[in-house]
Amino acid sequence: MRPARILLYCRPGFEKECAQEVTAAAAQMGVEGFVKARPESGFAVFHAHQDAMGVEFGDHLEFNRLVFPRQLLRTGDLLSGLPEADRVTPIVAAVRSLGTRFAALWIETPDTNDGKALASLIKPLTPHLEKALRRAGVAFDDAQAEDRLHVYFVGGLACHVGLSRVGNSSTWPMGIPRLRMPSAAPSRSALKLAEAMLEFAAGREFEPGLTAVDLGASPGGWTWQLVQRGFMVTAVDNGPMDARLMESGQVKHRRDDGFHYRPAEPVHWMVCDMVESPAKIARLVARWIAEGWCAETIFNLKLPMKKRYEEVLRCRAIIDEALGGKGYYLRMKQLFHDREEVTAYLARR
Ligand code: SAM
Repeated sequence: MRPARILLYCRPGFEKECAQEVTAAAAQMGVEGFVKARPESGFAVFHAHQDAMGVEFGDHLEFNRLVFPRQLLRTGDLLSGLPEADRVTPIVAAVRSLGTRFAALWIETPDTNDGKALASLIKPLTPHLEKALRRAGVAFDDAQAEDRLHVYFVGGLACHVGLSRVGNSSTWPMGIPRLRMPSAAPSRSALKLAEAMLEFAAGREFEPGLTAVDLGASPGGWTWQLVQRGFMVTAVDNGPMDARLMESGQVKHRRDDGFHYRPAEPVHWMVCDMVESPAKIARLVARWIAEGWCAETIFNLKLPMKKRYEEVLRCRAIIDEALGGKGYYLRMKQLFHDREEVTAYLARR
């Protein structure tokens, strides 16, 4: 059986944005449906009006084009009212209806306090479920398999059993990259750029001596990440830079306005974490790319409390218009380390 629903994990509080995004993507493919998304639940489920259309939609929806979802699964109906004495048997039956060979088994919960409380239930259940799946002839370590198997508990007696396509989904359990805060980094923001680099430039090797500009750099978490990768960085901010970072010899500090600063020579990368209106940042980064002041940029858009999805669309439209709609690559993502914001990558093609 091919699952007809789309399950999206997200940061709690962003269910509405996930719902708007998946509904818009469905409409683009001519698929009509509705979303069930309880506020603060950490996930949303899209139901197509016709199952066949839902299956088709699930086959074509591209994870990398979505901004707010952390993970993308195809799933069937919620398994609810699991018997307390034996949750495993109905789950195994649901898995068998999806297939028998999977690349991995991830048992997960929403990223909420309730979800964290469920972790104590999952831990003892996991070996039983694995054993029962093996006994039922289900492999979940098949490197050739197209899909990972997910069991996503949304309550003690309720779970979604779903599939994520390898290559069209997050590679992290719960869609959350596990990154450790480096003790030498000047600010926690360092993790945000580390995650952004993983998301947008995974596997890239940077030859030493590439150049970068960091707009809104103080105290230097993002600059620190660039320095670790061998970049020579111009850090633009009226605020102070971390003294130890300055000792690296790879950083020049310019006390300037990030909206007025222009590099004397084009740089490879520009990063921008200034707290400003998203539209203003979108215009600025588009200009850096259009003028050839940088080849690639990662920037953060601080979203307003309301109409966050609309604001993302607006920024995309500003960039599209400024760059004439072609010759560049743009991706936006709400990273795990993003709060009321999204991070974006823009590059010349
Ligand atoms: N990315 C930094 C890090 O990793 O440590 C943190 C940046 S903090 C969120 C925002 C910074 O933007 C502040 O230091 C602020 O001074 C700077 N900023 C805001 N508006 C600016 C402007 N117009 N020009 C330069 N810097 C600006």
